[in-house]
Amino acid sequence: MPSTPAYAAATSKSPLAPFSIERREPGPHDVLIDIAYCGVCHSDIHQARDEWGGSIFPMVPGHEIVGHVARIGSSVTKWKVGDAVGVGCFVDSCRECEACHAGEEQFCSNGMSQTYNGYERTGGKLDRTRPTYGGYSTRVTVDEKYVLRIPAGMPLDRAAPLLCAGITTYSPLHHFGVKAGDKVAVVGLGGLGHMGVKIAHAMGAHVTVLSSSPGKRDDALKLGADDFLATKDPETFKANAGRFSFILDTVSATHDYNAYLGMLARGGTMVLVGAPDATPLSAFSLIVGRRRLAGSLIGGIAETQEMLDFCAKHDVASDIELIPIDKINEAYDRMLRNDVRYRFVIDIASLKR
Ligand code: NAP
Ligand code: ZN
Ligand code: ZN
Repeated sequence: MPSTPAYAAATSKSPLAPFSIERREPGPHDVLIDIAYCGVCHSDIHQARDEWGGSIFPMVPGHEIVGHVARIGSSVTKWKVGDAVGVGCFVDSCRECEACHAGEEQFCSNGMSQTYNGYERTGGKLDRTRPTYGGYSTRVTVDEKYVLRIPAGMPLDRAAPLLCAGITTYSPLHHFGVKAGDKVAVVGLGGLGHMGVKIAHAMGAHVTVLSSSPGKRDDALKLGADDFLATKDPETFKANAGRFSFILDTVSATHDYNAYLGMLARGGTMVLVGAPDATPLSAFSLIVGRRRLAGSLIGGIAETQEMLDFCAKHDVASDIELIPIDKINEAYDRMLRNDVRYRFVIDIASLKR
């Protein structure tokens, strides 16, 4: 296959710049995907800047990939050329461990193959000689089992963020049994947060946005929230103590979890999906009211397909700002300044020119 144009970070200190990668020829079980759009997740920034440690460079980020099947391997039965498909945060897993059998490949005990900043597998094992490269590129070869179907009629650019932001918010709402009428709060109205609002609203919950940006009030209500509370005002935490049965925390920057736990009702659950450095936790934040604090990581392949179908049924997709690839560094800076409504999506056509 000819070289594939991409954008990569050479080191944790380098801006993203044009780069070229080799994609494998599709094996019997692979599909080759011609990438149309790729969403920009805050995790791309955390990893490209090595904020979680252990980043692999050069790094081609991107795990909110949508496009069309361009070629299929000889044994592929599930896909045909031209199908609209997506790839999320991982492209393989061991397929043998308990988590993989349970359809929770994201928790593979032998390590999932992350879509980027990870490794492909050889003979089922992570192969450290074969780094993965993500969706800031024009094509990708993926095993057919790790490919998602984009429902008919869903606009591809607005579907891209569902592959991470969508499943990361759908999975905990679904897993912890959020249902119609539940009082749900979503903390942080960014890429994940705005999907959390839309999905929780579609599930029939009464949704409140807790935001550090008072200017996002109108947007929150338009996105489907029933209420909006400004978290810069300490009174908010006092006035709403014990109010919510479920809090979904999507914030990317360090903040005090104890303050938010105080807004949980008796027996309520707060789930962290945002991944900043943590602050100390007081045992009393949980003991009083038998509250639960949990975490959640993306979702498995079956659940991701379920989420896509749920979103299609409820007419849910991401609110995006489409950018050419050469605006990616600016987009990172704008995300860090909290200036995105509500997800940047790269138009990969700009990388093909
Ligand atoms: P994003 O679009 O940048 O949104 C983050 C939001 O956090 C902002 O919109 C802002 O909302 C709030 N925020 C930012 N700085 C803040 C501060 N200093 N104080 C209080 N609030 C602040 O990011 P994203 O792509 O949604 O990702 C959010 C986090 O989730 C990241 O840490 C990312 O790595 C993580 N993540 C986790 C998973 C998982 O599987 N668990 C998957 C994807 C991403 P307001 O303006 O409304 O306050
Ligand atoms: Zn992500
Ligand atoms: Zn496994």
